[in-house]
Amino acid sequence: MDLSMMICNYKSTIKDAMMCIDKNAKGTVFIADEAGRLVGIMTDGDIRRLLLEGYGLNDCIDIHMRKDFVYAKFNDEPSDIAGKFNYRIRIIPIVDSDMHLVDYACYDENIHISLAQPQLGGNEYKYLMDAFLSTWISSTGKYITAFEEKFSNYCGVKYGVATSNGTTALHLALAALDIGSGDEVIVPDITFAATINAVIYTGATPVIVDIEENSWCIDPAKIEEAITPRTKAIIPVHIYGQPCNMERIGIIAKRNDLYVIEDCAEAHGAEWNGKKVGSFGIISCFSFFGNKVITTGEGGMCITDSKELNEKMRVLRDHGMSKLRKYYHEIVGFNYRMTNLQAAIGTAQTERIEEILEWRKNLELQYRTAFEQMKGVVLQNDSLPNRKKISWLVSVLVDENKRDLVLTKLKENDIDVRAFFIPLSEMKIYKKYAAGCSVSKRISKMGLNLPTTYEINKDDIERIKSLISEVL
Ligand SMILES: *Cc1c(COP(=O)(O)O)cnc(C)c1O
Repeated sequence: MDLSMMICNYKSTIKDAMMCIDKNAKGTVFIADEAGRLVGIMTDGDIRRLLLEGYGLNDCIDIHMRKDFVYAKFNDEPSDIAGKFNYRIRIIPIVDSDMHLVDYACYDENIHISLAQPQLGGNEYKYLMDAFLSTWISSTGKYITAFEEKFSNYCGVKYGVATSNGTTALHLALAALDIGSGDEVIVPDITFAATINAVIYTGATPVIVDIEENSWCIDPAKIEEAITPRTKAIIPVHIYGQPCNMERIGIIAKRNDLYVIEDCAEAHGAEWNGKKVGSFGIISCFSFFGNKVITTGEGGMCITDSKELNEKMRVLRDHGMSKLRKYYHEIVGFNYRMTNLQAAIGTAQTERIEEILEWRKNLELQYRTAFEQMKGVVLQNDSLPNRKKISWLVSVLVDENKRDLVLTKLKENDIDVRAFFIPLSEMKIYKKYAAGCSVSKRISKMGLNLPTTYEINKDDIERIKSLISEVL
């Protein structure tokens, strides 16, 4: 901005100062004498107080301005300037040795770049208030049905059963399929722990297998090797927005009479062969946690085309209570219900899912353009045949010896980044379920997730890029 928009002459009136602030939109005006030297500062708060005290718009500012203002010298260290900010001082003039204004520094609260931030600018607030005012704030209400129908329909699947979170969705799916003690369930080595935990809750034994080099998803060849007479199900996880090879997994499952339960917690809207993820499994599970593609705060959903499983999951979700006879329990169930308040947000999010996905895709494209010519940064593959990846977090690989340095560098600059999931096989409590996972170990050490927060812009991406290239 033109610096002259920040300055008023000390002979000006209160009205002149107000007009100046109105134009510069900084809430502050710097006041200079005839020689252009800074002699005072006035803020919109100062003006408000003057008017309340009875001063008029045409009074001169010179007797009212702050003369003991905080300023910085042009050759001060940036960290020293930053140290002058406090909860009241948000803008600091920078002057030369003659007190002429040469620049100013602003404290920007948005300078911190978070990893992910939900986009709640559609009907979210309206529906949430509607649910709230209706007093149906627990787990009965019109938004539960609306959300279940809208979201399952979006995935091209008949029924949706909303749950309290993505982990309970996974557990509910496994329980509805009667998976338990003595059974084995195959899971990938790279996933969020909820996938394997849900298997362990049922009493079944998880079997961890390696991932594919190019997609980072579960390796179908490794699934085949891991099948035993006790195997009951496979849980493919569409990791970081990338769909698994559902064709091969489908063939393997059919040949061996196994259930496929998709974990779609990170891939709402992704497609395999033109069909949305969530439409391949006998049951598929989603999460709507705050950092996922769409959110309900906490929340999850199981979707299925099976009428029987839909009904069974509804009973299990609600304490296993008989639909015909209230407080008669035929099966040991859970309370895994979602509230109408959460579903209200979810309904509004589902209305905008295409728009949100488009926005995320554009953001990833900006990252791709920025990193195109940069050696040492490999972006997640988005052009594998038959797979339509969606953009959740932006995931990249760098040299494993540099990865932690990049993490530290970005964190020092107040940019949230995340290292990849640690392979399950590298954690003490899960190790015993794994054998021969080498690809996952290698890739996990190189992986970083970059921010896809709502407010990030091109300049931020450039800054992230130059910070990374400094390290590499
Ligand atoms: C987030 C996530 C879950 C669990 O979802 P919650 O809603 O946090 O319980 C499960 N699996 C994967 C792959 C996830 O990323």
